[in-house]
Parts: sequence; structure tokens; C-alpha cells
Amino acid sequence: MAAAGEFDLIFRDATVADGSGGSLSEGDVAVREGTIAQVGGRVDGRASEEIDARDLVLAPGFIDPHTHLDANLFWDPDLTPSSSFGVTTVVTANCGYALAPVLSEDARQYLVAAMSTVEQIPEVSIETGVPFDWSDLTSYAARLDELDVLLNHAFLIGHVPLRAAVLGVPGAFTRRASVDEREAMGRLLRQGLELGALGFSTDQVIGNPGPDGTALPGQVCGEEELLDFAVVLGQGPGPGLFTMANAALLLGREERVADLAWHRRLAAASGRPVVVGPIFDSTDDPGGACAIMDLTLEGQRAKATVVPQISTRPFELWTRLDSPGTLLRSLPSLMAAVLSDGADGVRALAADPAARAQLRREGASMPHNPVFNGRWDHVRVRYSHQRGFEGKDLDALSAERGLDPVDLLLDMAIADDFETQVATVMRNGNDDEVARLVAHPAAMIGASDAGAHILANTDSCYAVWTLQHWVRERKVLSLERAVAMLTGDQARLLGFGDRGLVRAGLAADLVLFDPDRIGTTGVRFVDDQPEAGRRLITDAQGVEMSVVNGTVATRRGVSTGARTGRRLRPSGRRRSES
Ligand SMILES: [Zn+2]
Repeated sequence: MAAAGEFDLIFRDATVADGSGGSLSEGDVAVREGTIAQVGGRVDGRASEEIDARDLVLAPGFIDPHTHLDANLFWDPDLTPSSSFGVTTVVTANCGYALAPVLSEDARQYLVAAMSTVEQIPEVSIETGVPFDWSDLTSYAARLDELDVLLNHAFLIGHVPLRAAVLGVPGAFTRRASVDEREAMGRLLRQGLELGALGFSTDQVIGNPGPDGTALPGQVCGEEELLDFAVVLGQGPGPGLFTMANAALLLGREERVADLAWHRRLAAASGRPVVVGPIFDSTDDPGGACAIMDLTLEGQRAKATVVPQISTRPFELWTRLDSPGTLLRSLPSLMAAVLSDGADGVRALAADPAARAQLRREGASMPHNPVFNGRWDHVRVRYSHQRGFEGKDLDALSAERGLDPVDLLLDMAIADDFETQVATVMRNGNDDEVARLVAHPAAMIGASDAGAHILANTDSCYAVWTLQHWVRERKVLSLERAVAMLTGDQARLLGFGDRGLVRAGLAADLVLFDPDRIGTTGVRFVDDQPEAGRRLITDAQGVEMSVVNGTVATRRGVSTGARTGRRLRPSGRRRSES
């Protein structure tokens, strides 16, 4: 026990953004035994480490409410790169994909396949990196409690394993549940809530295919089942969040408005918030996202609380030319070449003048699909070994070189030994529309998908990106408002009454950053996925230090190896909404 006047950490002369959205303040912050001991003014006393925080901002650690880091918890205790961005708490098991319960080998294989297919996490990584030495939710929660990891984590109960446990395979993804089966799933959900789960998650997105092109549990279950879950959430402990990737995510405004009426019914059934997202702006319907946000605000006044989770990043799906990504859906002969023989198939196609001519014809008239509008000026190079290519669109690059975009694409990919990544920007592509979304009073930031889409996006950097782009570059958010959206607002929704603010007596999860430098750097590959090689990451700059439960977790983005993270349960009382 430390004596009075002795602390573990003192941050001297910090600018404090306390997570409430209130004004910035200047002063010292002291930490003792995992807790924030004193905030503001001059702290008398000494600490094991005193940090000169002049010109730096001290904020609550960022809380990432939407990750798919369930499997990573078992092979990457530092939860990279999220930890390098100043994130101190992650929520797992979003969108219905989760690792428990696993009551049969069939069910286990199905939930691994579903998570792998939709979230683009290699199946071999999950199979080799996750021990699966649990069966029911109780043994899983106990296993999570034993983990030595850098960050705090909390989980949702995923729809996929609940269905696989009760309906078996293939019933989980082919049919509706009987009344008895619905009750059995409800009991499992209730058990999960008692173990500290924050709520329930599912994926209803129309167009998302499951393993081998099958439907997903959230697409076949019917409304009664989900309404039953909502009732259980309303009765259980904790915040009882119903979270979902919504059916009309990639559809037009009419469908999205109709979808919202469904989410309100769920909210009315549970009496708890229904978190829906991501809500994207679409180039086909400028202003559509803000219209949905306005409608959710009206509903919140009527106590049918639908919380729209937004992304502060352009939504891009990256494509490598040796794998069947988004762009290839619009180029059938290239897709066929990839599916038949991967990179060699593409090389053979490129060497055949007639096949190239066919591909040029396809490229000149690419069809619209739900995630891509078929325009080469919306295809950007995100990764290439060739100087001057990154950041440019294929329309401009090919015009500069007097080439057809298809020829440029093939030549570039082959020259890069298929490391080229091109992005089809289809949602959140208009920075001014995204600015309106980010500034909207109903906006809840999320949708990082950290851990997922390992070769296709790097949105786990969303927090530092928000501070870089929306605060510093675009001045759409004040620093204190942005920090609140990344911390205090999240803690309140998720039921972490003891976190998300820099206040004496609360848990000491903190991030210290340079507001003039914080942001992301370019992307790079790291070769660290279990058995599956590479993933794409981006690095942070300007994040000086993060603290988890009172211990320094990262310095300049690098893990200290302290691993004081733990599984969080919602605290009993919820802070007042004011
Ligand atoms: Zn997700």
C-alpha cells in the first residue's frame, strides 16, 4: 500500500480532455494502484514515474466498441495494432461471430468458417491460434479471465454460436427455430449476460454470404427469434445491448428507413438500446445517411433508442488481384482466372491478347453492385511498390500513361508480384458528407472491425484518424468533443461506469498524445498471422503513452509487455445520461 503523497504515475502539466466533452483543463494527473487518484492543479508528492506532459493531451484510453479480435486475444496478447493507437478497451464478438459456446465439433467448424468467411480472417489462423479448450459460455468466460493481455476486453453474445449450439449444423443457417429452440437460445443469452456479456450481436446484411455461399443465421432466423432475444436483453443485467449489422446496410434510402422501423420494434421489445451500423454515406444517395441519423434522434425522444454506429473513415474494400475481392465481381473473366488458378491464372490471362481484349471490354462497362459503382475513378491504388502510384485512381493513372485501366491493373499487379492493393471506394467516399455524419448529434463512433479483413482494410486506426482528420485537418469536431465520442460516450453506452473519464476514483485507463502529430502513417504488411502469413496494418504517430488499469501499456505505440488488461463486465450502476 503506497503512502499518502506517493503515486505510481504523475502526469505533470497535461492538457486534460476528460472524456465528458467539457472544456479542456490544464494540470497534473496522478495514478495510484490502478486508479486515478487526483486530477487537476498541482499534485504534491512523488511517483515511481513522473511524465512531463507539457503540450500533450491526456485523455481516457480509447474504447473500441466494434472489433473482431476474439481470436487474436489468444495469439497476440498485445492486440496489435489497436494497442499502438491508444485503445485501452476492445469489445469482441460483434456482428454475431463469436467463439462460444461450442458444444459440438460440427458447430465449432461452422462458427470458425462463418467468422473466417465474413470477417476475412484466415481459417487456418483461427484453427491454429485458438485453443478451443472450453465448451459452454461459463468455461469460455473463465478462460478469458485467465488471459494475460495488454488491453481490457469485453464480449457480446454472438448469434452464430447460439444457433449452432441449439439448432446444430446445418439447421443454424437453413431454418427457423421452434419455440422450444428459441427458449433454449434465450437461456444461453441470459447465461451470457450473467457472466458479464454486454449484449447480443447478429448480422442481417443482405448480400453478405456465409461459408460456401450459404445464408447467414441472421438472414434465416425470422423476426420472432430476434424479438425473443430483445426481451431477454431487457430482463437481464448489464446494458443489454442489441447490436447488429443491419439488413439494409448496403441498400438504398427506402430500404434503410424501413429497416429502422424494425430496429425500433426491437428497442421497444427490450427497452434497451439497439446499436445499428455501420451507417454509411453512399455516393448513390448523398445525404441519405444523415436522414437516417435524424430519424434515429426522433426515435430516441420517443424512447425507442436506436443508436447509429458510424465510421469516421472512408469505407473501402481492398482487392488483391490474386484473390476474389470486390473489384473482381465486376470483371468476370478475371474472377474466373483467379478462381481457377490464383496468381498463375492471372498471369496466363495477361499473356493472352484475346483474353486481355475481352477483359478490356468488361472493364469498359463494369456493372454496379451493392459495394461498387463500376467507375475506375473510384478505384484507387492503396499499396504498390511502384513510385507515385499510391493514392491515385486508375482512371487518372491510366490516362497519364495512355493505357486502358485493365491493362494498367494487370501490369501493375504482375510487376508488384501481386502485392498491389486497389480500393473500391463506395461508402463514405465524399469527405463533406462524412463530415456531416461525424458532426451529427446522434453519431456514435465505431465500426473499426479491428482484427477482421486483414488484407482489405486498416480501420482499426479510427481513433487516431478521427483526431488527425476530423479535429486537426477538417476542424469538424473540437478536440474535447472527439475525445468524448471515443471514450466517455462509449463507456456510458457499454455500461462501464468506472471508465471513460479522467476523474478521481475511476480506473486509470489513459492515453497521452500530441494533438499536433497524432495520426496514421502509410500501410505496410506484417508477417505474423498464425500459419497464414501476412496482414496489412498502419502505424500511429503522436501517441506517446497509454496506461491500462494504472500500468503503462505502450510507449510510442510499442507494448511494454505489462499485460494488465482484463475482461471487463458492465458495472452495476449506469452513470446518469446527463
Ligand atoms: Zn463487424
